[in-house]
Formats: sequence, C-alpha cells, structure tokens
Amino acid sequence: MPKKKDSLEKIKEEEELTVEDIEADEILGLMKDNIVIFAKNVFKDYDIGDYLVRAVDNTTLKIKEGEFVVIKGPSGAGKTTLLNLIGGLDSPNKGIIYGYGVRISDMEEESLATFRLMNSGFIFQNYNLISTLTAEENVIFVLRTAGIPLKEARKRAVHLLTKVGLEKRREHLPFQLSAGEQQRVAIARALANDPPFILGDEITANLDKETSEFIRNIFKDLKDLKKTIILATHDNKLIDLADRIITFDDGRIIGDEKQDIKN
Ligand code: ADP
Ligand code: MG
Repeated sequence: MPKKKDSLEKIKEEEELTVEDIEADEILGLMKDNIVIFAKNVFKDYDIGDYLVRAVDNTTLKIKEGEFVVIKGPSGAGKTTLLNLIGGLDSPNKGIIYGYGVRISDMEEESLATFRLMNSGFIFQNYNLISTLTAEENVIFVLRTAGIPLKEARKRAVHLLTKVGLEKRREHLPFQLSAGEQQRVAIARALANDPPFILGDEITANLDKETSEFIRNIFKDLKDLKKTIILATHDNKLIDLADRIITFDDGRIIGDEKQDIKN
C-alpha cells in the first residue's frame, strides 16, 4: 500500500531494526541445505511523488535447488517486483539477496548482467523480444553475449527453436509471429544458456489454451531436468506442477505450502 512520505522516518527506523547482516555460518548452512536463492529482510520501495509504494516489505525467502515454486497473489501484491529482485533484474532498497553463492543485492548493473547470463533465464508476460531481430537472432544474441562462437550459437538456436516447434519461423521478426509463437521464442531465449534457474512472470496470461498446454509440457520437462523454477502465475495447469506454493500480498509472504505433485 502507498504510504505518505511523512511516515518515512518511522519506516526507515523499522528497517534498521529488522535488517541484520548475514553470518558466515549462515552462508555455509545455505550450501549444506542446497539453498540457491536466499533473500533476507528484503525491502523494495517505489517513489511516486508524495507517496512511497512498498512493493516488497521485509521478505525473507529460501529456495532450494531443483524446487518448482509458484507465487500466487492479487494484482499489485508485489510478485513481479520480487521476481525481478531474486532474478537479478533489479536491486532492493534494503536487505540481502544471495543467488547461486554470490551476493547480488548490492551488485552494480554490469555484474548483475553477468549473473543473469550465467544463472537466470527470465520469461516475461509480454515476451520482451528484441523487435528488430528475427526469432533465431533473438536466441543467438544471448548465446553470443555469453561468448559462444557463432557457428555453435546458430546450431543451438536452431535446436531450441525446433524444440519449441518454431523451426519454420526462425527468420520471422517478432511482429510476424503470433503471441504464442513470440512467447515460445522467449522461452527458447531464456533456455539458451542452459541456466540452472528459470523465472517466469505470468507467462501464459495472454495466451490461448493450446499454447498454454504446450508451455506446461516444456515446464514439465524442465522440472524433470531438476531445474530450479519460480513462476508468478494463476494458471492452474502450471500451478499443478509446483512443489511449493507461496502466497504473496501487500509485499509480504502470507502463505508458503508444500504441494504433492498430481502430474
Ligand atoms: P504484481 O506483480 O503482484 O501485480 P508489482 O510488483 O507489479 O505487483 O507491483 C507492486 C506494487 O508496486 C504495486 O502497487 C505497483 O503499482 C507498484 N509498482 C510496481 N512497479 C512500479 C514502478 N516502476 N513505479 C512505481 N510503482 C510501481
Ligand atoms: Mg506482476
């Protein structure tokens, strides 16, 4: 909820009290328990004129390697903001985030970009493809950025686009593709560097049933490959795959439950 800025001082005091640094023992504990994502007392505010929106409000979260986590919650709850923080797309105002053994919460953008390239594949609601690049080039671009030689990058891009059923659409620009096809390119791109951690933000929200089903099957395979997955979604087909369901509201985790897999 937006808070008047004149209450800001009090909010800041609260933060000082809550946020503690992380101890060496705690970091060793993470490794022992196979925790790959650790967010501790994380806060993220947006400044909108006279008001401050606290999108993530003192959130602490641990995610284990190979876990498939779904985040549910109403619009405006802070789900997108939380995903951006743990995927290394944005930095918190306060709090600590460890991702794959490194402290990403106070990294500069350049280092964060490297972190993302190595660790996290992000899939967005609106695909976010580069509009001037073909489907194949969108995938190649990520691979080239990671230093893969062009020939190998092209081979991998063709393989990935074939896997998502788009081998005949490789030369198309995003505007020449349907919504479902664009999202499948975006998935191929997210998987290009074979990242251990895959994040998705309402990835089937704008798609037809058939494409949603196709995407579900891709995530079933990713789960079988023991990828660590975190999806903000209301799609029951995706929710059914999750090992764990987190309910988020007003910047806070209000529910965190294990789920037996139905398949
Ligand atoms: P969700 O994904 O659960 O719908 P968001 O993380 O997008 O929630 O948003 C959480 C809150 O932060 C909302 O109140 C939203 O209006 C606000 N918010 C998100 N992004 C920005 C931004 N860039 N500037 C200002 N407010 C923002
Ligand atoms: Mg959102």
